[in-house]
Amino acid sequence: MKVIVVLCDALRDDVAAAQMGYLEHLVEQKLATRYTAIAQMPTMSRPNYETIHTGVPCSVHGITNNYEVRRSNMPNIFSLAQKQGLVTAASAFYWYSELYNGTVPYDPVMHREVDDESLWIQHGRFYGVPALHTEQPDVEVFAAGGMLARRFYPDYLLIHPMQLDEAGENYGGDSVQYRRAVIAQDTIIANLVPQLKPAGYTILVTADHGMNNDPSTHGGSRPEVRHVPLYIIPADGDGVGNTGQQVSQLQIAPTICNLLNIPIPETMTAPPIEL
Ligand SMILES: [Zn+2]
Repeated sequence: MKVIVVLCDALRDDVAAAQMGYLEHLVEQKLATRYTAIAQMPTMSRPNYETIHTGVPCSVHGITNNYEVRRSNMPNIFSLAQKQGLVTAASAFYWYSELYNGTVPYDPVMHREVDDESLWIQHGRFYGVPALHTEQPDVEVFAAGGMLARRFYPDYLLIHPMQLDEAGENYGGDSVQYRRAVIAQDTIIANLVPQLKPAGYTILVTADHGMNNDPSTHGGSRPEVRHVPLYIIPADGDGVGNTGQQVSQLQIAPTICNLLNIPIPETMTAPPIEL
């Protein structure tokens, strides 16, 4: 089965439930299954990008903070899929290029767009620049993801928008700016899902971490930063609606392995979610 992960950077669970009307509609109609995923600590971006893709905590994968800049040395969804002969793609922040294509130092001229079957992320469209960290509008990130799906029909596609993180860093997670950014992302997803689900994609929507009410504060243990949503929109068949259950972020990687029909490596010890 083909899988898309929409990793909404800094999407907290309660605001998603309150504001993402399209995704919650799918849950209400039992066309999707909803969980609350408990993010690993530190509730930071780079450590949890790696956690979501390796299924192990930062004390094991070693990406303990945002400034640990190197290629992943653990079995991960991109490397496992590529080794199985599957096609991988990502429209994502350039930290993904560093983590999985090993582009350290990252050079936006050389590494921004890649199509190379020997890479873990074979078809990559990356945004942002070291030191400047210039943001890309979500609509452009999703458009590049949709293009990758149409052009290359990848087995695993990551779409990683960052505007919620930007709004949360500037205004906090209890702000009109953050809520508007969440609604805008839900609207883009409402355009994407009806296009890509018929192509056979199971679509997961989740986050690396949430956002505290204070601007520019995440990293710790409060529910605002540890509780993130996990929506699973199956391509073939119905969801079960809102389970009300909590799952560990460590369960996401083995769940993706099962969906892609690739063996779960011994390093992923958390149980996959039964779908
Ligand atoms: Zn983040």
